[in-house]
Amino acid sequence: MAVTQEDQKIKEFIAICRENGLSVTPQRLSIYKALIGDTSHPKPEDVYKRIEKEHPTISLATVYKTLETFEHYGIISVVTPLHNTVRYDMMTQPHHHIVCVKCKKVIDLFDEQLKDLPVPEQVTKDNRLINYSIQYNVVCAECRRQQS
Ligand SMILES: [Zn+2]
Ligand SMILES: [Zn+2]
Repeated sequence: MAVTQEDQKIKEFIAICRENGLSVTPQRLSIYKALIGDTSHPKPEDVYKRIEKEHPTISLATVYKTLETFEHYGIISVVTPLHNTVRYDMMTQPHHHIVCVKCKKVIDLFDEQLKDLPVPEQVTKDNRLINYSIQYNVVCAECRRQQS
């Protein structure tokens, strides 16, 4: 039987948990599974909606806390919160974002040119740069269509 991408991801997840002494609870596993392959940069509420059927006893607060834990261990990352709500990202390799200011859609952007962008001196003078992410704010095609 072929190992699916999901199996592979779950294996990685369990390995990271073990390394960090984090127990793999059914809730954590369900929350993680709900995120696999998700490119929509979901809000905690979106994740909650996906798993509440399977875990009726789980609270939104638990989902919030679990996502924060995942972020702490580098399992997922946070998209720069330009909206009132935090958005999570399954893609942990460096990339950029195209964000629609109207519908709040967040699209991943991978661009070779942006990889080698010169970093302004003001950034590196007194600080240690960890990474950077560029955000292009747009009105997306769908929203443009609705405007006209
Ligand atoms: Zn839009
Ligand atoms: Zn992203």
